[in-house]
Amino acid sequence: MEKYQNIVQFRQEMRKFFNEYRKKLHINPAWRITLDIRRSRNTWAEVEWDYSTHKFWVYINDKKNATPKELKDSIVHELIHITLMSYTHLAEEITQKLYAYKGADPKPLLKLLNQREEMIVTKITSIILGLDRHD
Ligand SMILES: [Zn+2]
Repeated sequence: MEKYQNIVQFRQEMRKFFNEYRKKLHINPAWRITLDIRRSRNTWAEVEWDYSTHKFWVYINDKKNATPKELKDSIVHELIHITLMSYTHLAEEITQKLYAYKGADPKPLLKLLNQREEMIVTKITSIILGLDRHD
């Protein structure tokens, strides 16, 4: 698949995929999601959030997402994380509270929850992108 020629073209496509899949995934329109480019970390994309205010920041690494296929995959992946966020937030809170009560370190269980979520998000992303190819 063709690579992006410049940053302007990349930003346009990034915005287009984001708007398309935000709608398709029925993400609450009231939730504020900021979309931007970030190269600083060695990941394709990442999401940060403040669940109490329903604010999210999706960062896409334009150096890693060289083709439309990679870019679309990264955007859908991060939007699935946002879709699952109410569950993720609750699971993390329960873990923190339970381990605080036990006086134990919650980090191993939080790490395991994150790994499981990555597996689920990756699978749902490939299902959704697979369905789209037959539209
Ligand atoms: Zn992920």
